[in-house]
Amino acid sequence: MKELWGNLKFAWKYTKDQKANLIKYVIATIVSIGINLVLPILSARIITELTTNLSIQLVVIALIIFIVENLFNITRYFTDIYMQRVYRETFTKIQTELGSCILKLENKVLDENGTGVFIQRLTNDTSRLADIFNVLNIYLSNFITNVGIFIAVFLINKVVFLYLVVSISIMFWIERTRTKKTIAIDKVYRKKSEKVTGFVGEIVRGARDIKMLNSESSFINALNKKILDTNKTRYEFTEVRANYVLLGGFASDTSYFLLIVLLFMLMINDYLSIPMALVVYNYSTRLDGFIYWFGQLIEKVKDFNLSASRVFEIINGKKFKKESFGTMHLDKVNGDFEFKNVAFAYGKNKVLNDVSFKINANETVAFVGKSGSGKTTIFNLLCKMYDIDKGEILIDGINIKKLDRESIRGNITIISQNPYIFNLSIKENLKLVKEDLTNKEMIEACKVACLHDFIMSLPKKYDTLIGEGGVNLSGGQKQRLAIARALVQKTEIILFDEATSALDNETQESIQKAIENMKNEYTILIIAHRLSTIINCDRILLLDSGKIVAEGTHQKLLKKSKIYKNLYESEIKE
Ligand code: ADP
Repeated sequence: MKELWGNLKFAWKYTKDQKANLIKYVIATIVSIGINLVLPILSARIITELTTNLSIQLVVIALIIFIVENLFNITRYFTDIYMQRVYRETFTKIQTELGSCILKLENKVLDENGTGVFIQRLTNDTSRLADIFNVLNIYLSNFITNVGIFIAVFLINKVVFLYLVVSISIMFWIERTRTKKTIAIDKVYRKKSEKVTGFVGEIVRGARDIKMLNSESSFINALNKKILDTNKTRYEFTEVRANYVLLGGFASDTSYFLLIVLLFMLMINDYLSIPMALVVYNYSTRLDGFIYWFGQLIEKVKDFNLSASRVFEIINGKKFKKESFGTMHLDKVNGDFEFKNVAFAYGKNKVLNDVSFKINANETVAFVGKSGSGKTTIFNLLCKMYDIDKGEILIDGINIKKLDRESIRGNITIISQNPYIFNLSIKENLKLVKEDLTNKEMIEACKVACLHDFIMSLPKKYDTLIGEGGVNLSGGQKQRLAIARALVQKTEIILFDEATSALDNETQESIQKAIENMKNEYTILIIAHRLSTIINCDRILLLDSGKIVAEGTHQKLLKKSKIYKNLYESEIKE
């Protein structure tokens, strides 16, 4: 109950501005419950009239029933409409907030949990959470109506009332056991289905590679195995549920049979008149719904609690930690920064160990080192994609822990090896980072990025569609478009992760030229996978075993660092 209350309070935050609709809903519900209680009395009157004196009164009562029934339908119409409004608005708000919270999570959290965890919570759980309003609408109002019926039976005959209390208690117990068991299975089911969703997402994203690897069948088999396992849990759920429904049905039928016997006994012993027995019977048949609605109510409330806790543990940031930023804001940075004795590990995998270096504004510096030596990690740490374990990272002399998100990410661009390009036109892709981008600025950026001539050779020029993930562009063209995107964004610091795949010479030259064009105006850091491309950098930092082991120009390093010399020579041999 405490959990339900807490979750309802949380959900209320998203429902607050729907107060007017909620009030209208409550009024419509109260009216509908009232009408629902009067109906059995009217029906009993009809039966009495039919069995005693056939008169015009019968028609009058029938007419009243007709009007009351229609009034009931109208109230239900309004309850449905108002509740839908509350449901939709709340659902949208929770889903939007959850989406924005997922984007604020620490990258470590995203790495550790598969995408399925978040997709399931964003779609399935938010919808089940907001469903509490539909539950209140259908289940709770039916439940309250049935409480009213109970009271009516109590007023008519205490023995029948007592009998109903006992039989209903037995049925309650059956329902409670059922929901306890099914909820436990449902928890397991949701975890498994998160995994299926995550895997399906990976298959869709990696479809090209899967085809290339000619491994469709092994992926489909793995998917099939996961789905079958999930289905097993679902079947278990259905089986337990079906068993209890069967048991509940038997208990309910037995209860009716015994009720008729009881009514018969009461009537022949003059404890109950025939019309009243009819009213009680009429009420009791509706009590079947009481068990059903109550069972459903418990199940739905538990379902709500489960979904709410899964959604809120992302929103409240307790289980899934959110990124933290400082409050200091820098509009534009100079572009110099420093790593001071930085140590960092991904979980237990220590990657950087006491790394220190300083980069001056507008310098072009390259990082070299064996694959896995931590070059990309340095880039990620600079953008505060992960929090460091020890030491300090300073931008313009200020610890990045003190800076707000915008000051860090708004001043740094990463051009990754395979930058993501959206399925929009070239122009729209560039406008994504600057809404008021002019044609002049766009062309200038593409010229610097050595992409303009290529774009002009396309049939629709800057309006050419690029395809999902930039499929219509080569690796080098994607990188140059990403360079243009960075230039449009005008960030002071550009981190460039050189493509590992061997680009053709012409493409390589174009990228080199693009970087050359930006030199001295931006602080540029390059992760170099081929030393030949960074010979002209102002400085080269050599990374080995989580430390910077040497630094200097290409010529200097060739002379003073054996590791660098070996790297260079092995590359030349290749
Ligand atoms: P480089 O760019 O020099 O090739 P990285 O910085 O990408 O090296 O990786 C350094 C080490 O950190 C590697 O051992 C890699 O397996 C590990 N690593 C990289 N990214 C992650 C991550 N997101 N989670 C866990 N380990 C990672």
